[in-house]
Amino acid sequence: MRLPPAALLAALALTQCGRETVRTHVWFSMSTSMSVSLFGAAQADDEAVFAKLESETARLSGLLTDFSAASALSAVQGSVGDTLQIATEVAEVMNVALEAGRAGNGAFDITLHDLKWLWGMATGQTGSVPASAAIDSLLADNPVYRSGWDSGAYRPPVTLLPGGKAVLNRSGVQLDLGGVAKGYIVDRLHRLLDSLGRPDHIIQAGGDTRVGGRKTSGPWRIGIRNPRAADSLSGMITSTEPFSVSTSGDYERFFEQDGMRYHHIFDPRTGRPSHNALAVTVIADSSVLSDALSTALFVLGPRRGPEVARGLGAMAVWIVQRPEGRCAIVMDEMRSRMELKGLSVCAEP
Ligand code: AMP
Ligand code: MG
Repeated sequence: MRLPPAALLAALALTQCGRETVRTHVWFSMSTSMSVSLFGAAQADDEAVFAKLESETARLSGLLTDFSAASALSAVQGSVGDTLQIATEVAEVMNVALEAGRAGNGAFDITLHDLKWLWGMATGQTGSVPASAAIDSLLADNPVYRSGWDSGAYRPPVTLLPGGKAVLNRSGVQLDLGGVAKGYIVDRLHRLLDSLGRPDHIIQAGGDTRVGGRKTSGPWRIGIRNPRAADSLSGMITSTEPFSVSTSGDYERFFEQDGMRYHHIFDPRTGRPSHNALAVTVIADSSVLSDALSTALFVLGPRRGPEVARGLGAMAVWIVQRPEGRCAIVMDEMRSRMELKGLSVCAEP
């Protein structure tokens, strides 16, 4: 389970809104803490709006989860060459996931469901380091496994066709949209709030946050948590414009064995947790993109990541552990949007 950044966010929202009225609703879904804050004058149906957000979250996560064999996502399975009709929501998420996959030459990989289970990183599991042979046999068909990003090995696991159809490019793969689905759901809740006449809001699902509309009491301010202390910040993003921000961190789901930390973001070249960062925070125009990219850029690391982020109109900061201590690598575009707290910029990228 993620630590409760919602509480942190809600506290920030409350302390920063001055005389503005803010109503915050916190609930638990998708194995994480979620929250919505509505700004502006309170309305009689605020509670009904919160109930709609909860039920829409449950509906969408039910479609997109890889934890249920009955989900719309789990229906996208079969043999190479199969053409399947897929749910609109699955196609929409997959479209962005495949774009992130292409942009990072396979660093973002929606085929790692079985690997996640092998490492014991699914909800309710207790993790341990698996045998190398077990990793080998799971990833034998993965074109990126044991190849570098530059090898040209990447092939998308699925090709989307017009009319909500998809062709499978590999056999017997259970897909996992865990690195992107929460962002998509945040975007959907954002649009739902707009349609319900609540344009001024903050929506947060675990590490994914979207800010919509305006706040009369000053700019939006969203904290970036310290990857080694849930109750303190490593940065603060300030903006008068709406934006989406996502953080992927090695603290969300992990176990320790023989003094090493093993977590839930995998490098598809090795089948092991990526050690390219402690956390990556991405700002983009939509949460589905910031979510996909925060996972992808974690795996790509701060040397290769900036070019991929720029190619998709996003910006990022990596928090890394160096022999000289913990420090941050901040893309130039990001410098005017965020301020580091208790961290310095790394000497080398
Ligand atoms: P996030 O917290 O957004 O970084 O997402 C982490 C989740 O994404 C994991 O729990 C897995 O379900 C999935 N995942 C892990 N590694 C990758 C990867 N390399 N590419 C895409 N999804 C991944
Ligand atoms: Mg993500």
